[in-house]
Amino acid sequence: MDWRALDEHILVKPGAKAGLAKRDPVSADLFPDRKAAEKRCGECADAINDLQDRLWAERTRALLVVLQGIDTAGKDGTLRGVFNACGPLGVAVTAFGRPSEEELAHDYLWRVHRAAPKRGMIGVFNRSHYEDVLVVKVRKLAPADAIEQRYAQINAFEKHLTENGVTILKFMLHISKDEQRERLQERLDDPGKHWKFNPGDLEDRALWDDYQAAYDTMLTRCSTAHAPWRVVPADKKWRRNAIIGAVVHGVLEEMKPDYPKPDWDPKSFTID
Ligand code: AMP
Ligand code: MG
Repeated sequence: MDWRALDEHILVKPGAKAGLAKRDPVSADLFPDRKAAEKRCGECADAINDLQDRLWAERTRALLVVLQGIDTAGKDGTLRGVFNACGPLGVAVTAFGRPSEEELAHDYLWRVHRAAPKRGMIGVFNRSHYEDVLVVKVRKLAPADAIEQRYAQINAFEKHLTENGVTILKFMLHISKDEQRERLQERLDDPGKHWKFNPGDLEDRALWDDYQAAYDTMLTRCSTAHAPWRVVPADKKWRRNAIIGAVVHGVLEEMKPDYPKPDWDPKSFTID
């Protein structure tokens, strides 16, 4: 499927309701065949690497990829699957966990703005400023009226970034409650995955409906023309990676990054 056609299925149209509950976390028709999806993802990962090289050479613009999703939704797996072909120099990953004392002493966007990618880079956020209208809202970590103001603040912040050369791609990894149970169970069963398990994840799972509602609200209110949201069916890891790979590749290609032309003539030099 052409990436634009794929994108139509996952985009949250600015101004429209996100309708998260009606979105299918499987969506088998988007990439019916696993082998084909894996092949496509590999091709996209290579192409992303090549385009990133040009982006760096050009050093005028940046790409910011925001990954959001509840525990086990596959944020780390997406990073491995889609950006694995890129060298470590061109991709900067920032994971946002519970804010430190220092971070809490500033406004919530302070740490986020500092992590925004510089020109030439692809920045990936593993969680993001959206936690400040998700976990913070569900667990009531800030006053309700302060949280209410954040949707507009986030939209303005993202507008500021886009007007300053940062293209923003936001992906919500959408999994079903059953799939999360299986993935959490795996983390308990497999000693190699114990490190990923956190008892707090079960507290969050118990708040499943509240999280879904908070996601639905932020998808609706923060899908803007300058930085729209995309809801990615993520129950199948290979389909998730193929979809995100295709969209990141498509968008990067449209940016047309290119190697700058030298202002000297390579033929005028001889090396002995
Ligand atoms: P993990 O991504 O599993 O390493 O966990 C990071 C944890 O940090 C998650 O439980 C998030 O909900 C939490 N977190 C991230 N950002 C914030 C924030 N702004 N305020 C409170 N908790 C946060
Ligand atoms: Mg966690």
